[in-house]
Amino acid sequence: MDCKKCMVLMIKISMIAVVMGDNSKNEGLQKQVIIVGGGIAGLAAARKLQNTGQYAVNVLEARRERYGGRIFTDRSSFKLARGMEVDLGTNWLNSMVKDNPLAKIVSDGELEVKSAGSVQLHFPEKGQVYTGDDANKIFTEFYKITLQAMKKAADSGKDLDLKKAIQSVLRDEETVADKTLLSSVLESHYTMSLSGHSTQLFDPKKEFGWDTGVIDGFDQIVDMRTKKGEHTFCRTKETSTTDRGEQDKKQSFGVLKTETVIFDPPLPKGWKKTIESIGIGFSNKLVLQFNKVFWPEDIGIFTLVTSNQDDMGMLQTWVNLHRYVNKPLLMGMLHDQAAVRFENMTDNEIKENAINILTKLFGEEKMKDITITIVTKSKWISDNKVLGTTSYPKVGILPEMFDSLTKPVCPYIYFAGEYTSLEHMNTAHGAYMSGIRAADQIISNYCAKEPLKGKKVETSKEKTKKEKKSEKKKENQNGDKLKDEL
Ligand SMILES: Cc1cc2nc3c(=O)[nH]c(=O)nc-3n(C[C@H](O)[C@H](O)[C@H](O)COP(=O)(O)OP(=O)(O)OC[C@H]3O[C@@H](n4cnc5c(N)ncnc54)[C@H](O)[C@@H]3O)c2cc1C
Repeated sequence: MDCKKCMVLMIKISMIAVVMGDNSKNEGLQKQVIIVGGGIAGLAAARKLQNTGQYAVNVLEARRERYGGRIFTDRSSFKLARGMEVDLGTNWLNSMVKDNPLAKIVSDGELEVKSAGSVQLHFPEKGQVYTGDDANKIFTEFYKITLQAMKKAADSGKDLDLKKAIQSVLRDEETVADKTLLSSVLESHYTMSLSGHSTQLFDPKKEFGWDTGVIDGFDQIVDMRTKKGEHTFCRTKETSTTDRGEQDKKQSFGVLKTETVIFDPPLPKGWKKTIESIGIGFSNKLVLQFNKVFWPEDIGIFTLVTSNQDDMGMLQTWVNLHRYVNKPLLMGMLHDQAAVRFENMTDNEIKENAINILTKLFGEEKMKDITITIVTKSKWISDNKVLGTTSYPKVGILPEMFDSLTKPVCPYIYFAGEYTSLEHMNTAHGAYMSGIRAADQIISNYCAKEPLKGKKVETSKEKTKKEKKSEKKKENQNGDKLKDEL
Protein backbone atom coordinates (compact mmCIF):
# COMPACT_ATOMS: atom_id res chain seq x y z
CA MET A 1 0.00 0.00 0.00
CA ASP A 2 1.25 3.45 -0.80
CA CYS A 3 1.43 4.97 2.66
CA LYS A 4 1.85 8.49 1.43
CA LYS A 5 -1.82 8.12 0.64
CA CYS A 6 -3.02 6.66 3.91
CA MET A 7 -6.43 7.45 5.35
CA VAL A 8 -6.98 6.99 9.04
CA LEU A 9 -10.36 6.81 10.72
CA MET A 10 -10.17 7.17 14.48
CA ILE A 11 -12.72 6.15 17.02
CA LYS A 12 -12.46 7.38 20.56
CA ILE A 13 -13.02 4.93 23.43
CA SER A 14 -13.57 2.32 20.80
CA MET A 15 -10.29 3.16 19.12
CA ILE A 16 -11.48 2.22 15.68
CA ALA A 17 -9.40 3.68 12.98
CA VAL A 18 -9.64 3.21 9.27
CA VAL A 19 -6.57 3.61 7.17
CA MET A 20 -7.18 3.82 3.50
CA GLY A 21 -4.78 4.01 0.66
CA ASP A 22 -5.04 3.98 -3.07
CA ASN A 23 -3.93 0.53 -4.08
CA SER A 24 -5.50 0.66 -7.48
CA LYS A 25 -2.21 0.23 -9.29
CA ASN A 26 -1.45 -3.00 -7.45
CA GLU A 27 -4.81 -4.75 -7.20
CA GLY A 28 -6.85 -3.99 -10.28
CA LEU A 29 -9.52 -1.43 -9.45
CA GLN A 30 -9.70 -2.19 -5.74
CA LYS A 31 -8.67 0.43 -3.24
CA GLN A 32 -7.24 -0.77 0.02
CA VAL A 33 -8.96 0.21 3.26
CA ILE A 34 -7.63 -0.55 6.69
CA ILE A 35 -10.05 -0.31 9.58
CA VAL A 36 -8.43 -0.14 12.98
CA GLY A 37 -10.67 -1.75 15.59
CA GLY A 38 -13.09 -4.63 15.07
CA GLY A 39 -15.96 -3.34 17.20
CA ILE A 40 -19.45 -3.07 15.69
CA ALA A 41 -18.61 0.33 14.12
CA GLY A 42 -15.54 -1.01 12.37
CA LEU A 43 -17.30 -4.18 11.28
CA ALA A 44 -20.26 -2.24 9.89
CA ALA A 45 -17.89 -0.04 7.87
CA ALA A 46 -15.91 -3.07 6.70
CA ARG A 47 -18.96 -4.93 5.46
CA LYS A 48 -20.46 -1.94 3.70
CA LEU A 49 -17.19 -1.21 1.88
CA GLN A 50 -16.54 -4.84 1.05
CA ASN A 51 -20.02 -5.27 -0.41
CA THR A 52 -19.31 -2.65 -3.09
CA GLY A 53 -16.61 -4.88 -4.53
CA GLN A 54 -14.40 -1.81 -4.92
CA TYR A 55 -12.33 -2.09 -1.78
CA ALA A 56 -9.93 -4.59 -0.29
CA VAL A 57 -10.75 -4.27 3.41
CA ASN A 58 -8.51 -5.23 6.30
CA VAL A 59 -9.67 -4.94 9.89
CA LEU A 60 -6.91 -4.52 12.44
CA GLU A 61 -8.13 -5.71 15.82
CA ALA A 62 -5.90 -5.45 18.86
CA ARG A 63 -7.38 -8.47 20.62
CA ARG A 64 -6.16 -11.84 19.53
CA GLU A 65 -9.09 -13.83 20.86
CA ARG A 66 -12.15 -12.05 19.49
CA TYR A 67 -13.69 -9.10 17.71
CA GLY A 68 -16.87 -7.22 18.68
CA GLY A 69 -15.27 -4.84 21.21
CA ARG A 70 -17.83 -3.87 23.81
CA ILE A 71 -20.23 -6.43 22.39
CA PHE A 72 -18.88 -9.39 24.30
CA THR A 73 -20.82 -12.62 24.80
CA ASP A 74 -18.49 -14.64 27.01
CA ARG A 75 -19.72 -18.18 26.41
CA SER A 76 -16.74 -19.72 28.20
CA SER A 77 -18.25 -19.38 31.67
CA PHE A 78 -21.56 -21.25 31.32
CA LYS A 79 -22.16 -24.60 29.71
CA LEU A 80 -24.76 -24.37 26.93
CA ALA A 81 -25.17 -20.63 27.38
CA ARG A 82 -27.94 -19.12 25.31
CA GLY A 83 -26.32 -15.70 25.05
CA MET A 84 -28.25 -13.11 27.05
CA GLU A 85 -26.93 -14.53 30.34
CA VAL A 86 -23.31 -14.12 29.26
CA ASP A 87 -23.49 -10.78 27.47
CA LEU A 88 -20.98 -8.81 29.53
CA GLY A 89 -21.23 -5.72 27.33
CA THR A 90 -24.26 -4.76 25.22
CA ASN A 91 -27.46 -6.76 25.66
CA TRP A 92 -30.42 -4.41 25.16
CA LEU A 93 -32.02 -3.04 22.02
CA ASN A 94 -33.70 0.33 22.35
CA SER A 95 -37.23 0.03 20.97
CA MET A 96 -37.78 3.80 21.08
CA VAL A 97 -35.17 4.33 18.37
CA LYS A 98 -36.98 4.48 15.06
CA ASP A 99 -35.38 2.30 12.37
CA ASN A 100 -32.83 0.88 14.78
CA PRO A 101 -30.49 -0.94 12.34
CA LEU A 102 -29.61 -3.60 14.90
CA ALA A 103 -33.29 -4.43 15.41
CA LYS A 104 -33.46 -5.13 11.68
CA ILE A 105 -30.40 -7.39 11.79
CA VAL A 106 -31.96 -9.22 14.75
CA SER A 107 -35.23 -9.68 12.94
CA ASP A 108 -33.58 -10.73 9.64
CA GLY A 109 -31.49 -13.26 11.54
CA GLU A 110 -34.60 -14.54 13.37
CA LEU A 111 -32.91 -14.06 16.73
CA GLU A 112 -35.15 -14.40 19.74
CA VAL A 113 -35.88 -11.28 21.76
CA LYS A 114 -37.92 -10.64 24.88
CA SER A 115 -39.07 -7.46 26.58
CA ALA A 116 -37.29 -6.43 29.75
CA GLY A 117 -40.51 -6.91 31.72
CA SER A 118 -41.76 -4.86 34.62
CA VAL A 119 -39.53 -2.97 37.02
CA GLN A 120 -39.82 -3.32 40.77
CA LEU A 121 -38.50 -0.43 42.86
CA HIS A 122 -37.30 -1.24 46.37
CA PHE A 123 -36.99 1.72 48.72
CA PRO A 124 -35.83 0.20 52.04
CA GLU A 125 -35.41 3.62 53.71
CA LYS A 126 -39.20 3.90 53.70
CA GLY A 127 -39.84 0.16 53.84
CA GLN A 128 -41.61 0.37 50.47
CA VAL A 129 -41.67 -1.81 47.36
CA TYR A 130 -43.33 -0.40 44.23
CA THR A 131 -44.51 -2.77 41.49
CA GLY A 132 -46.66 -2.52 38.35
CA ASP A 133 -48.76 0.64 38.12
CA ASP A 134 -47.20 2.10 41.28
CA ALA A 135 -43.70 1.83 39.80
CA ASN A 136 -44.93 3.15 36.43
CA LYS A 137 -46.43 6.23 38.10
CA ILE A 138 -43.07 7.01 39.73
CA PHE A 139 -41.22 6.65 36.44
CA THR A 140 -43.80 8.76 34.60
CA GLU A 141 -43.40 11.51 37.16
CA PHE A 142 -39.63 11.26 36.99
CA TYR A 143 -39.78 11.48 33.19
CA LYS A 144 -41.98 14.57 33.43
CA ILE A 145 -39.51 16.25 35.78
CA THR A 146 -36.65 15.40 33.44
CA LEU A 147 -38.50 17.04 30.55
CA GLN A 148 -39.12 20.12 32.71
CA ALA A 149 -35.39 20.29 33.52
CA MET A 150 -34.60 20.10 29.81
CA LYS A 151 -37.07 22.87 29.07
CA LYS A 152 -35.53 24.98 31.80
CA ALA A 153 -32.10 24.62 30.19
CA ALA A 154 -33.50 25.38 26.73
CA ASP A 155 -35.36 28.46 28.04
CA SER A 156 -32.27 29.75 29.82
CA GLY A 157 -30.38 29.52 26.52
CA LYS A 158 -27.39 27.86 28.17
CA ASP A 159 -26.46 24.32 28.98
CA LEU A 160 -26.89 23.06 32.54
CA ASP A 161 -25.62 20.11 34.57
CA LEU A 162 -28.39 17.53 34.15
CA LYS A 163 -28.41 16.29 37.73
CA LYS A 164 -28.46 19.83 39.13
CA ALA A 165 -31.18 20.87 36.66
CA ILE A 166 -33.41 17.97 37.77
CA GLN A 167 -32.69 18.70 41.43
CA SER A 168 -33.71 22.31 40.93
CA VAL A 169 -37.04 21.30 39.34
CA LEU A 170 -37.60 18.85 42.20
CA ARG A 171 -36.98 21.65 44.68
CA ASP A 172 -39.21 24.23 42.97
CA GLU A 173 -42.14 22.32 41.48
CA GLU A 174 -45.04 20.33 42.91
CA THR A 175 -44.81 16.60 42.24
CA VAL A 176 -47.41 13.86 42.56
CA ALA A 177 -44.86 11.35 43.89
CA ASP A 178 -42.87 11.64 47.10
CA LYS A 179 -39.95 14.04 46.51
CA THR A 180 -37.49 12.05 48.65
CA LEU A 181 -38.29 9.00 46.56
CA LEU A 182 -37.88 10.91 43.26
CA SER A 183 -34.61 12.39 44.41
CA SER A 184 -33.38 8.89 45.33
CA VAL A 185 -34.49 7.63 41.91
CA LEU A 186 -32.32 10.39 40.45
CA GLU A 187 -29.34 9.48 42.66
CA SER A 188 -29.78 5.84 41.70
CA HIS A 189 -30.04 6.53 37.98
CA TYR A 190 -26.55 6.22 36.58
CA THR A 191 -26.55 8.44 33.48
CA MET A 192 -28.63 11.16 35.03
CA SER A 193 -26.55 11.40 38.14
CA LEU A 194 -23.25 11.49 36.24
CA SER A 195 -21.52 14.66 37.22
CA GLY A 196 -21.45 17.27 34.48
CA HIS A 197 -23.79 15.55 31.98
CA SER A 198 -25.14 18.05 29.44
CA THR A 199 -28.86 18.78 29.78
CA GLN A 200 -29.23 20.18 26.28
CA LEU A 201 -27.79 17.07 24.69
CA PHE A 202 -29.63 14.64 26.96
CA ASP A 203 -32.04 12.38 25.13
CA PRO A 204 -34.74 10.87 27.37
CA LYS A 205 -35.70 8.38 24.65
CA LYS A 206 -32.24 6.93 24.91
CA GLU A 207 -32.51 6.49 28.65
CA PHE A 208 -36.00 5.10 28.87
CA GLY A 209 -36.19 2.83 25.80
CA TRP A 210 -33.95 -0.07 26.83
CA ASP A 211 -36.64 -2.70 26.89
CA THR A 212 -35.69 -5.51 24.50
CA GLY A 213 -33.24 -8.24 25.47
CA VAL A 214 -31.60 -10.32 22.74
CA ILE A 215 -31.87 -13.82 24.21
CA ASP A 216 -29.60 -15.42 21.62
CA GLY A 217 -26.75 -13.09 22.55
CA PHE A 218 -25.39 -9.96 20.92
CA ASP A 219 -22.40 -11.84 19.51
CA GLN A 220 -24.83 -13.30 16.97
CA ILE A 221 -25.26 -9.79 15.56
CA VAL A 222 -21.51 -9.37 15.31
CA ASP A 223 -21.18 -12.77 13.64
CA MET A 224 -23.78 -11.79 11.07
CA ARG A 225 -21.62 -8.80 10.11
CA THR A 226 -18.51 -10.90 9.69
CA LYS A 227 -19.65 -14.10 8.01
CA LYS A 228 -18.70 -15.42 4.58
CA GLY A 229 -15.00 -14.61 5.09
CA GLU A 230 -15.67 -11.11 3.86
CA HIS A 231 -12.84 -9.37 5.65
CA THR A 232 -9.35 -10.36 6.43
CA PHE A 233 -8.76 -9.99 10.14
CA CYS A 234 -5.26 -9.08 11.14
CA ARG A 235 -4.77 -9.22 14.87
CA THR A 236 -2.42 -6.46 15.94
CA LYS A 237 0.60 -7.86 17.70
CA GLU A 238 0.08 -8.62 21.41
CA THR A 239 2.98 -7.08 23.31
CA SER A 240 4.83 -8.57 26.22
CA THR A 241 3.82 -7.71 29.79
CA THR A 242 6.74 -5.35 30.21
CA ASP A 243 6.01 -3.05 27.30
CA ARG A 244 2.24 -3.50 27.29
CA GLY A 245 1.66 -0.49 29.56
CA GLU A 246 3.48 1.79 27.19
CA GLN A 247 1.76 0.44 24.12
CA ASP A 248 -1.71 0.44 25.63
CA LYS A 249 -1.34 4.00 26.74
CA LYS A 250 -0.73 4.92 23.18
CA GLN A 251 -3.81 3.12 22.01
CA SER A 252 -6.51 3.82 24.59
CA PHE A 253 -9.04 6.61 24.50
CA GLY A 254 -8.13 7.74 28.00
CA VAL A 255 -4.63 8.35 26.78
CA LEU A 256 -5.86 9.82 23.50
CA LYS A 257 -7.39 12.51 25.68
CA THR A 258 -4.12 13.04 27.46
CA GLU A 259 -2.41 13.51 24.10
CA THR A 260 0.10 10.73 24.58
CA VAL A 261 -0.87 9.56 21.11
CA ILE A 262 0.78 11.80 18.58
CA PHE A 263 -0.77 12.31 15.17
CA ASP A 264 1.57 13.48 12.49
CA PRO A 265 0.36 15.68 10.92
CA PRO A 266 -1.75 16.68 13.95
CA LEU A 267 -5.52 16.38 13.87
CA PRO A 268 -7.42 19.69 13.64
CA LYS A 269 -7.88 21.69 16.86
CA GLY A 270 -11.65 21.17 16.71
CA TRP A 271 -11.20 17.42 17.04
CA LYS A 272 -9.26 17.76 20.27
CA LYS A 273 -11.73 20.26 21.70
CA THR A 274 -14.65 17.95 20.98
CA ILE A 275 -12.84 14.97 22.50
CA GLU A 276 -12.30 17.03 25.65
CA SER A 277 -16.03 17.82 25.76
CA ILE A 278 -16.97 14.16 25.90
CA GLY A 279 -16.79 12.46 29.27
CA ILE A 280 -16.06 8.82 30.10
CA GLY A 281 -18.15 6.89 32.57
CA PHE A 282 -17.54 3.49 34.16
CA SER A 283 -19.76 0.42 34.23
CA ASN A 284 -19.48 -3.31 34.81
CA LYS A 285 -21.69 -6.37 34.92
CA LEU A 286 -21.90 -9.32 37.26
CA VAL A 287 -23.74 -12.56 36.46
CA LEU A 288 -24.44 -14.88 39.37
CA GLN A 289 -25.85 -18.38 39.33
CA PHE A 290 -27.63 -19.43 42.54
CA ASN A 291 -28.67 -22.81 43.91
CA LYS A 292 -32.31 -21.77 43.38
CA VAL A 293 -34.57 -18.87 42.38
CA PHE A 294 -35.52 -16.76 45.43
CA TRP A 295 -36.88 -13.63 43.68
CA PRO A 296 -40.33 -13.01 42.12
CA GLU A 297 -40.11 -14.82 38.78
CA ASP A 298 -42.53 -12.52 36.92
CA ILE A 299 -40.58 -9.28 37.54
CA GLY A 300 -38.00 -8.22 34.92
CA ILE A 301 -35.79 -5.79 36.81
CA PHE A 302 -35.25 -5.08 40.52
CA THR A 303 -33.81 -1.72 41.52
CA LEU A 304 -32.61 -0.60 44.93
CA VAL A 305 -33.52 3.07 45.28
CA THR A 306 -31.47 4.72 47.97
CA SER A 307 -29.96 7.98 49.15
CA ASN A 308 -27.12 6.13 50.88
CA GLN A 309 -23.93 7.21 49.09
CA ASP A 310 -22.13 3.94 50.03
CA ASP A 311 -24.65 1.95 48.01
CA MET A 312 -24.44 4.16 44.90
CA GLY A 313 -23.63 2.25 41.76
CA MET A 314 -23.00 -0.99 43.65
CA LEU A 315 -25.36 -3.64 42.25
CA GLN A 316 -28.44 -1.45 42.67
CA THR A 317 -30.06 -2.92 39.55
CA TRP A 318 -30.55 -6.63 38.88
CA VAL A 319 -31.96 -8.23 35.73
CA ASN A 320 -33.97 -11.41 36.27
CA LEU A 321 -32.28 -13.72 33.75
CA HIS A 322 -34.51 -16.60 34.76
CA ARG A 323 -37.22 -15.05 32.57
CA TYR A 324 -34.92 -15.35 29.57
CA VAL A 325 -33.02 -18.59 29.97
CA ASN A 326 -34.88 -20.49 32.67
CA LYS A 327 -31.90 -20.82 35.00
CA PRO A 328 -31.44 -19.39 38.53
CA LEU A 329 -29.43 -16.41 37.28
CA LEU A 330 -29.35 -12.70 38.09
CA MET A 331 -27.34 -10.01 36.32
CA GLY A 332 -26.21 -7.10 38.52
CA MET A 333 -25.06 -3.70 37.24
CA LEU A 334 -22.19 -1.64 38.60
CA HIS A 335 -21.56 1.99 37.86
CA ASP A 336 -19.13 4.79 38.46
CA GLN A 337 -16.69 4.42 41.40
CA ALA A 338 -18.39 1.20 42.53
CA ALA A 339 -17.58 -0.28 39.10
CA VAL A 340 -13.93 0.72 39.60
CA ARG A 341 -13.75 -0.81 43.12
CA PHE A 342 -15.45 -3.96 41.85
CA GLU A 343 -12.57 -4.77 39.52
CA ASN A 344 -10.22 -5.21 42.47
CA MET A 345 -12.56 -7.38 44.53
CA THR A 346 -12.04 -11.11 44.99
CA ASP A 347 -14.90 -13.44 44.10
CA ASN A 348 -15.57 -13.94 47.82
CA GLU A 349 -15.86 -10.18 48.37
CA ILE A 350 -18.16 -9.92 45.35
CA LYS A 351 -20.37 -12.71 46.70
CA GLU A 352 -20.51 -11.04 50.11
CA ASN A 353 -21.50 -7.70 48.59
CA ALA A 354 -24.11 -9.31 46.36
CA ILE A 355 -25.73 -11.24 49.22
CA ASN A 356 -25.75 -8.08 51.34
CA ILE A 357 -27.57 -6.05 48.67
CA LEU A 358 -29.95 -8.85 47.70
CA THR A 359 -30.86 -9.15 51.39
CA LYS A 360 -31.76 -5.43 51.38
CA LEU A 361 -33.97 -6.12 48.35
CA PHE A 362 -35.65 -9.38 49.32
CA GLY A 363 -35.20 -9.71 53.07
CA GLU A 364 -33.33 -12.24 55.25
CA GLU A 365 -36.01 -14.89 55.15
CA LYS A 366 -35.74 -15.29 51.37
CA MET A 367 -31.92 -15.41 51.48
CA LYS A 368 -31.78 -18.37 53.89
CA ASP A 369 -29.94 -21.36 52.32
CA ILE A 370 -28.97 -19.30 49.24
CA THR A 371 -25.58 -20.04 47.78
CA ILE A 372 -23.84 -18.63 44.74
CA THR A 373 -22.55 -21.35 42.45
CA ILE A 374 -21.03 -19.40 39.53
CA VAL A 375 -19.59 -15.87 39.32
CA THR A 376 -18.97 -14.19 35.94
CA LYS A 377 -17.96 -10.57 35.66
CA SER A 378 -16.71 -7.94 33.29
CA LYS A 379 -13.64 -5.76 33.83
CA TRP A 380 -14.09 -3.00 31.28
CA ILE A 381 -12.25 -0.26 33.11
CA SER A 382 -8.90 -2.00 33.40
CA ASP A 383 -9.35 -3.57 29.97
CA ASN A 384 -6.52 -1.90 28.10
CA LYS A 385 -8.49 -1.81 24.83
CA VAL A 386 -11.38 0.10 26.41
CA LEU A 387 -10.39 1.96 29.65
CA GLY A 388 -13.81 3.28 30.66
CA THR A 389 -17.09 2.22 29.18
CA THR A 390 -19.57 4.97 28.52
CA SER A 391 -19.15 8.21 26.56
CA TYR A 392 -21.39 11.10 27.47
CA PRO A 393 -21.72 14.74 26.40
CA LYS A 394 -20.41 17.10 29.05
CA VAL A 395 -22.06 20.41 29.93
CA GLY A 396 -21.22 23.07 27.37
CA ILE A 397 -20.69 20.77 24.41
CA LEU A 398 -22.36 22.12 21.26
CA PRO A 399 -23.97 20.05 18.50
CA GLU A 400 -21.80 21.68 15.85
CA MET A 401 -18.68 20.43 17.64
CA PHE A 402 -19.56 16.97 16.35
CA ASP A 403 -18.69 18.15 12.85
CA SER A 404 -15.08 17.44 13.68
CA LEU A 405 -15.94 13.83 14.55
CA THR A 406 -18.39 13.09 11.77
CA LYS A 407 -16.42 14.60 8.90
CA PRO A 408 -13.17 13.12 7.67
CA VAL A 409 -9.84 14.86 7.87
CA CYS A 410 -9.34 14.86 4.14
CA PRO A 411 -7.92 13.26 2.25
CA TYR A 412 -7.14 10.18 4.33
CA ILE A 413 -8.70 10.11 7.80
CA TYR A 414 -12.28 9.02 8.52
CA PHE A 415 -13.89 8.72 11.94
CA ALA A 416 -16.42 6.23 13.33
CA GLY A 417 -17.41 4.78 16.73
CA GLU A 418 -20.23 5.37 19.20
CA TYR A 419 -18.66 8.55 20.58
CA THR A 420 -18.90 10.23 17.18
CA SER A 421 -22.68 9.94 17.21
CA LEU A 422 -24.43 13.04 18.53
CA GLU A 423 -27.82 11.33 18.58
CA HIS A 424 -26.87 7.81 19.63
CA MET A 425 -23.72 8.17 21.68
CA ASN A 426 -22.77 5.20 23.81
CA THR A 427 -25.04 2.73 22.06
CA ALA A 428 -24.34 -0.24 19.85
CA HIS A 429 -26.72 1.01 17.15
CA GLY A 430 -25.02 4.45 17.27
CA ALA A 431 -21.66 2.76 16.74
CA TYR A 432 -23.09 0.73 13.88
CA MET A 433 -24.59 3.80 12.18
CA SER A 434 -21.29 5.66 12.54
CA GLY A 435 -19.48 2.86 10.70
CA ILE A 436 -22.01 3.05 7.89
CA ARG A 437 -21.59 6.84 7.77
CA ALA A 438 -17.80 6.54 7.44
CA ALA A 439 -18.15 3.88 4.74
CA ASP A 440 -20.63 6.06 2.83
CA GLN A 441 -18.20 8.97 2.98
CA ILE A 442 -15.47 6.82 1.49
CA ILE A 443 -17.78 5.34 -1.17
CA SER A 444 -19.15 8.72 -2.18
CA ASN A 445 -15.61 10.06 -2.48
CA TYR A 446 -16.41 12.74 0.11
CA CYS A 447 -12.93 14.22 0.13
CA ALA A 448 -12.91 14.83 -3.61
CA LYS A 449 -15.89 17.15 -3.08
CA GLU A 450 -14.34 18.98 -0.09
CA PRO A 451 -13.67 22.69 -0.55
CA LEU A 452 -10.10 23.60 -1.44
CA LYS A 453 -7.60 24.08 1.36
CA GLY A 454 -7.92 27.46 3.03
CA LYS A 455 -11.60 27.79 2.17
CA LYS A 456 -13.68 27.90 5.33
CA VAL A 457 -15.69 24.71 5.92
CA GLU A 458 -19.23 25.40 7.08
CA THR A 459 -20.24 24.09 10.49
CA SER A 460 -23.70 22.58 10.80
CA LYS A 461 -24.84 25.68 12.78
CA GLU A 462 -23.66 28.01 10.06
CA LYS A 463 -25.25 25.77 7.49
CA THR A 464 -28.57 25.79 9.32
CA LYS A 465 -28.44 29.60 9.62
CA LYS A 466 -27.71 29.87 5.91
CA GLU A 467 -30.46 27.41 5.05
CA LYS A 468 -32.93 29.31 7.24
CA LYS A 469 -31.93 32.59 5.56
CA SER A 470 -32.42 31.13 2.12
CA GLU A 471 -35.76 29.57 3.18
CA LYS A 472 -36.86 32.98 4.52
CA LYS A 473 -35.79 34.61 1.23
CA LYS A 474 -37.77 32.01 -0.70
CA GLU A 475 -40.81 32.53 1.56
CA ASN A 476 -40.63 36.31 1.00
CA GLN A 477 -40.32 35.81 -2.74
CA ASN A 478 -43.31 33.45 -2.68
CA GLY A 479 -45.21 35.97 -0.57
CA ASP A 480 -44.44 38.75 -3.08
CA LYS A 481 -45.46 36.47 -5.93
CA LEU A 482 -48.74 35.67 -4.18
CA LYS A 483 -49.39 39.38 -3.53
CA ASP A 484 -48.78 40.10 -7.21
CA GLU A 485 -51.17 37.33 -8.23
CA LEU A 486 -53.85 38.64 -5.90
C1 LIG B 1 -21.21 -2.87 30.19
C2 LIG B 1 -21.76 -2.26 28.93
C3 LIG B 1 -23.10 -2.41 28.64
C4 LIG B 1 -23.62 -1.86 27.46
N1 LIG B 1 -24.92 -2.07 27.18
C5 LIG B 1 -25.41 -1.62 26.01
C6 LIG B 1 -26.73 -1.99 25.61
O1 LIG B 1 -27.42 -2.73 26.31
N2 LIG B 1 -27.19 -1.50 24.42
C7 LIG B 1 -26.41 -0.70 23.60
O2 LIG B 1 -26.87 -0.30 22.52
N3 LIG B 1 -25.14 -0.38 23.97
C8 LIG B 1 -24.63 -0.83 25.13
N4 LIG B 1 -23.34 -0.54 25.45
C9 LIG B 1 -22.55 0.35 24.57
C10 LIG B 1 -22.03 -0.40 23.33
O3 LIG B 1 -21.44 -1.61 23.73
C11 LIG B 1 -20.99 0.44 22.61
O4 LIG B 1 -21.50 1.73 22.35
C12 LIG B 1 -20.57 -0.15 21.27
O5 LIG B 1 -20.39 -1.54 21.34
C13 LIG B 1 -19.29 0.55 20.83
O6 LIG B 1 -18.88 0.05 19.58
P1 LIG B 1 -17.61 0.66 18.86
O7 LIG B 1 -17.39 -0.15 17.66
O8 LIG B 1 -17.77 2.13 18.74
O9 LIG B 1 -16.41 0.46 19.92
P2 LIG B 1 -15.81 -0.85 20.57
O10 LIG B 1 -16.83 -1.89 20.70
O11 LIG B 1 -15.12 -0.41 21.82
O12 LIG B 1 -14.74 -1.36 19.50
C14 LIG B 1 -13.42 -0.88 19.41
C15 LIG B 1 -12.50 -2.00 18.99
O13 LIG B 1 -11.18 -1.47 18.78
C16 LIG B 1 -10.22 -2.36 19.33
N5 LIG B 1 -9.01 -1.58 19.57
C17 LIG B 1 -8.73 -0.74 20.58
N6 LIG B 1 -7.52 -0.21 20.42
C18 LIG B 1 -7.02 -0.70 19.27
C19 LIG B 1 -5.80 -0.52 18.55
N7 LIG B 1 -4.88 0.32 18.98
N8 LIG B 1 -5.61 -1.21 17.42
C20 LIG B 1 -6.55 -2.05 16.95
N9 LIG B 1 -7.73 -2.25 17.58
C21 LIG B 1 -7.96 -1.58 18.72
C22 LIG B 1 -10.92 -2.91 20.55
O14 LIG B 1 -10.37 -4.13 20.97
C23 LIG B 1 -12.36 -3.08 20.05
O15 LIG B 1 -12.57 -4.32 19.46
C24 LIG B 1 -22.79 -1.11 26.60
C25 LIG B 1 -21.42 -0.97 26.90
C26 LIG B 1 -20.92 -1.55 28.04
C27 LIG B 1 -19.44 -1.43 28.30
